[in-house]
Amino acid sequence: MAKRRYTKKQKQLISLLTAVVVLVCFLVETVGPGWRRLTASVGLAPETVTAEGELEVHFIDVGNADCTLVRQGDFALLIDAGERGDDDAILDYLNRHGVTDLDLVVATHAHADHIGAMAKVIRALPVARFVFAPMPAAHTPTTATYVSMLEALDEKQVAVEAAQPNAVYEVGSARLQILAPLQEREDTNDMSVVSRLTFGERAFLFTGDAGVAVEDDLLYSGCTLQADVLKVGHHGSTTSNSAAFLSRVSPAYAFIPCGEGNSYGHPHEEVLASLQRRQSKIYRSDVHGDVVFVTDGTELTVQTEKG
Ligand SMILES: [Zn+2]
Repeated sequence: MAKRRYTKKQKQLISLLTAVVVLVCFLVETVGPGWRRLTASVGLAPETVTAEGELEVHFIDVGNADCTLVRQGDFALLIDAGERGDDDAILDYLNRHGVTDLDLVVATHAHADHIGAMAKVIRALPVARFVFAPMPAAHTPTTATYVSMLEALDEKQVAVEAAQPNAVYEVGSARLQILAPLQEREDTNDMSVVSRLTFGERAFLFTGDAGVAVEDDLLYSGCTLQADVLKVGHHGSTTSNSAAFLSRVSPAYAFIPCGEGNSYGHPHEEVLASLQRRQSKIYRSDVHGDVVFVTDGTELTVQTEKG
C-alpha cells in the first residue's frame, strides 16, 4: 500500500484542525452549554418516601400576590411572601399556626408580588435556609423591594442558595425537588423557581410566574410534572398554563392566587376553561380566601376560609 505523504503546510493544517476539535469537545463537555448539562440531570424524580404524620399546604390569601406555607411535623417552608404591606397578614397567619421559625424559604423570583414582604418576614422570624432564583447580571433588579430583601438577609446572616435543577430539599419527611429554571431567560417571570413537593403518594407543583417557554423546557426535560395540586402559573394568566403543560401535570386541584377585581384580569377565562376541561377543581383566593390542603400521603382534603 502506498504511503501517503503530506506537505509541511498540510501537516500544519491537520495539527490546527485537531487542536480545534479538541477545544470544541472540551467546551461542550465542561463549560457549556449549561442548558444541556441541566436537562440531563433533571429527569431524576426523588424517590418515594414514607409519609410520617401529615403535610399541610396553606395558600395564604394575599390578594393578587403569592404566599404559600408548607408544614410537615415541626418543619416550616415558606414559598414567596406576598406584596409590600402584606407582612402583617402573613406574620399573623404564621403566628396563628404556631410557626416561630422558618426552616426553608423559597423566593420564586424578584417581583414585588412575590418578595414584597420578604424583608419584614426575614427580620421577624429566624430563617435557616433561603433559596432564590439564579440571578445573572441581566436580571439583577435595583428595586427597593429587592434591595431591602438582600439587606435583611445580610443583617440576619442568611446565605442565599441559588436554585439548582434537581436539587432536593427535605421538608420534614416530605421532599421538595427544584425543577426550574433550566436555562437563563430574558423575562424575570421565566427565572421563577419551579418546584415539586412530594409526600407519600401525593404531589404539589409550585410554578411561581414561569411562562409557557419554561413549561416547554420542563416538558422537554422529561421530568415528572404530575401533581395532585397545582399552584397555577402567573396568577392564572394565558402567558402560562399551556394545554400541553396542564395535560402533563393533570392536577385534580388547582389553586389560583388572584385578587378581586385585579387590573390584569387574572385569572384569564381561557385558563379556567382549560382547567375545567381537565376536570381540575379550581380554588382561588378571591373566592375562597385562604385555602389549605392536608394529606397523610394518601388521602387529600381541602379546607377553605370562605366560599
Ligand atoms: Zn406574580
